[in-house]
Order: sequence, then structure tokens, then C-alpha cells
Amino acid sequence: MNKINKNVLAVISGPSGVGKGTVIKRMFELCPGLCESVSCTTRAPREGEQDGREYFFVSRERFEQMIEGGELLEYSAHFDNYYGTPKAFVEEKLKTGDVILEIDVDGALSVKAAHPSAVLIMILPPSMEELAKRLKSRGTESDEKIALRIARADYELSKKDKYDYCVVNDEVNRAAERILDIIRKEKEVLHD
Ligand code: 5GP
Repeated sequence: MNKINKNVLAVISGPSGVGKGTVIKRMFELCPGLCESVSCTTRAPREGEQDGREYFFVSRERFEQMIEGGELLEYSAHFDNYYGTPKAFVEEKLKTGDVILEIDVDGALSVKAAHPSAVLIMILPPSMEELAKRLKSRGTESDEKIALRIARADYELSKKDKYDYCVVNDEVNRAAERILDIIRKEKEVLHD
């Protein structure tokens, strides 16, 4: 898909607490021409969320139609709700520029299986100790929830060898610049 358009489909993952959102926000500040994909979900909007901005909020029935109709690049269920990447939306965005997808490892590997030219980038913590410290310092969650997040982080990190690139988030600007360099480099490959 992106080979035709000569724009890069970059899929970014990383464990909870790694600072993914902050790094991606910085990338958009540094490079305003980037496009961000908007996922579909069956969960209800939270306060302040807008349809078409954070997510496309759809009914369960509509989501199941999208699955059956092959309208999703990938999807998964989290906490009784469906989440998925709308294929047509991403394809439209790829006509105008490089597209960033922020999804979990399972979703990212599904996108890669369907579109081998997608570039998978994992954001890593400087160390597991640092990640555990960041998760605990949020201070809003029980020990049990923190333990679950750490177990999930271990799972996500265990898939890092399947990624095309790993970028350590030791400093936000540096990590954002490194990812933008990867996208530029991959773009050159598509234009060869
Ligand atoms: P939340 O409800 O907090 O916005 O998101 C819950 C989970 O859904 C997060 O782990 C998030 O990464 C995941 N998620 C959001 N969009 C997508 C998507 O398009 N595909 C997949 N596979 N997961 C998603």
C-alpha cells in the first residue's frame, strides 16, 4: 500500500509508561506534515473526547460489520471493547503524507503481516528498573494494577526482535528525532 504512494506507514509501539504519547506529540511538533491515524472503538467517549479526533466511536454492530467487510487493517479487544485501525482512512492519509499508527504489539504485527512494507518501531525504556519506577510514580494505581502493567510491559518488550527498529526513550527530543530520521531513511528506500 505505502509502496504505491511512496509514503511511509510507521507503526509505533512501546510498553505503558515508556512515554510513547509524549514522544509522538514531539514528533508532530517537529514535523507538522505527519498524519496520525484515528482508530475505531466501541467504547464510549470519555469526557473531552471528540468523534473523529481521539477515535471514531462506533456501535458494536457497526464494528462487527467492519470486521466482516474487511474494513480494518487490524483489530483487537481490550476490556470488553473492540479497537481497530480503519483501512480506508489510513490509505487516504498515505496519499498525502507519512502516517503514524500508535498500536500495541499484537496490532502492529498484524499490520506488518498484511503490509510488509510498514515500518515497525518500538520505543524502549532506558531500563526495566526505570520503567517500573515510572509506572509506580504515577501513584494513582493499586500495586495489583501496577504488577499487571509491568507483566504486560514484559510481554510487549519480548516482541522487540520482531520490530524493524528500537528507539530508547532516554530523552524525549532525542527519541523523537531518531524516529523522524528512521522515517526519512525509509522514505528514501521507497523512492529508490
Ligand atoms: P483506551 O480505551 O485507553 O483509549 O485504549 C485502550 C487500549 O486500546 C490501549 O492499549 C490502546 O493501545 C489500544 N488501542 C487503541 N487503538 C487501537 C487500535 O486501533 N488497534 C489496537 N489493536 N489497539 C488499539
